[in-house]
Amino acid sequence: MTEKTDVVLIGAGIMSATLGALLRQLQPEWSITLFERLDAAAAESSDPWNNAGTGHSALCELNYSPQNADGSVDVTKAIDINERFQVSRQFWAYAVENGVLGDPSRFINPIPHVSFVHGADDVQYLRKRYEALAPHPLFEGMEYIDTPDEFARRLPLMAKGRDFSDPIALNWTDGGTDIDFGSLTKELLAYLGATGANLAFGHEVLNLDKQSDGSWKVRVRNLRTRQTRTVQAKFVFVGAGGGALPLLQKSGIKEIKGFAGFPVSGQFLRCTNPALIDKHEAKVYGKAAVGAPPMSVPHLDTRVINGKPGLLFGPYAGWTPKFLKDGSNTDLFKSIRAGNLAPMLGVGLTEMSLVKYLVSELLKSQSGKVYTMEEFIPRADGRDWELITAGQRVQIIRRKGIGGVLELGTAVIAAKDGSIAGLLGASPGASTCVTAMLDVLQRCFPREYADWTPRLRQMIPSLGMKLSEDKALFHEVWDWTNKALNLTNANTPKHAGVALTP
Ligand SMILES: Cc1cc2nc3c(=O)[nH]c(=O)nc-3n(C[C@H](O)[C@H](O)[C@H](O)COP(=O)(O)OP(=O)(O)OC[C@H]3O[C@@H](n4cnc5c(N)ncnc54)[C@H](O)[C@@H]3O)c2cc1C
Repeated sequence: MTEKTDVVLIGAGIMSATLGALLRQLQPEWSITLFERLDAAAAESSDPWNNAGTGHSALCELNYSPQNADGSVDVTKAIDINERFQVSRQFWAYAVENGVLGDPSRFINPIPHVSFVHGADDVQYLRKRYEALAPHPLFEGMEYIDTPDEFARRLPLMAKGRDFSDPIALNWTDGGTDIDFGSLTKELLAYLGATGANLAFGHEVLNLDKQSDGSWKVRVRNLRTRQTRTVQAKFVFVGAGGGALPLLQKSGIKEIKGFAGFPVSGQFLRCTNPALIDKHEAKVYGKAAVGAPPMSVPHLDTRVINGKPGLLFGPYAGWTPKFLKDGSNTDLFKSIRAGNLAPMLGVGLTEMSLVKYLVSELLKSQSGKVYTMEEFIPRADGRDWELITAGQRVQIIRRKGIGGVLELGTAVIAAKDGSIAGLLGASPGASTCVTAMLDVLQRCFPREYADWTPRLRQMIPSLGMKLSEDKALFHEVWDWTNKALNLTNANTPKHAGVALTP
């Protein structure tokens, strides 16, 4: 007999964990079954060393504040990303206060977020970025620094051996965070398990069949026993990371037609020298090289994993046809359909700069990688660093006209009847998981969503409002989340940036 459940979550990453926890709060009586092909939770992109752990709020990532042709800086995207991160912070604060999550320092820690540039043109750009963002409520406390002394005081590791005849500048914000998305995922899943969800690890979802009553038959293989079974669900969420595209294709929903994926793998250099780790306390993001895609922006990141500080530099791009780090070399080939061939070919012809960038990255030796790092750490020594493989990104290719476009964000794909949804893409990813999962709820449960709204407002007081347009509400929410997430001491915006140096 076929097992029945209300909800099937596919994948034990941050997205399924977040959706499961939200549903538990909204409909505690619904049965939830989660299938994960690996033997552990958060072992793909949500693993702490597979991503950079940046609480993306556009405080430091320059790709969210591009320069216009007239030299001004467009901060629209930066404000939007920050708004979305505030939604995540509120849900996590609520979850800590209500026993869903434990000690917040296990998953979120305060760390300055810093943008770094050098060279006269980029220094001028950064100053304009500061002028555009610093007066904005969500970016209060941002500082502009362009003197070697102050640079050296704040970033000693990056200052040692630097030739300051090349001008430098920083945008510095104390209110940034490092997030261990692996730990966060595990805590949310532990809560789901403790409240009755069935968590099946070592179980791979093979296929999805729509039934005449609107439900889905989910065929699953136990990878230990090799036995298959079928579970019937009223709603399926495909939170399978890089595995989401093939599963959504197997479901046959028309909304996935025309989508394809382009895999980009990543590597980081991880510091093995505790003395160096001690000398740097910030997430410092630079500018992507000309022609390089935004996900390649170099950054030197302080990490806090299992309570221990760490340091990484990267990412270095690589290429494999796998859609998951633990995937297969046939993944890309198997995802080709008649409906997505033209978009794939179109992107292949128009994204030559990406292809060139990937080839140059693939040709980079270990010493070439250390040389790249010298822009950040002039006295970098390869013996202090080890190369690690990061998570696999599958960038979205979407049909456009007769060809296609390559997108660098995330997209929720949902069937019109709301019976199935999934998440494609990578950045800004985990930081905006709560907004993404609210989108799933709104699109898949339009009737219930209206009833859920008062409950959701208890969890996310700014729901449906723009904090960027309500300074008082932002301060209220900021103070509450800082307190609940124990970010108060190191993480309070100064409300008065350092004056611009002439
Ligand atoms: C190099 C890199 C750096 C990043 N840096 C950041 C950052 O600094 N900040 C940030 O916010 N985001 C960052 N991201 C993005 C972030 O890591 C992802 O958006 C997020 O982890 C995705 O979570 P997920 O739950 O969708 O996928 P995942 O964590 O990948 O989980 C998907 C799970 O589904 C399982 N699965 C797949 N197929 C099946 C199947 N058929 N059956 C059963 N299970 C299946 C997989 O094994 C996996 O465990 C980064 C990503 C990369 C690659």
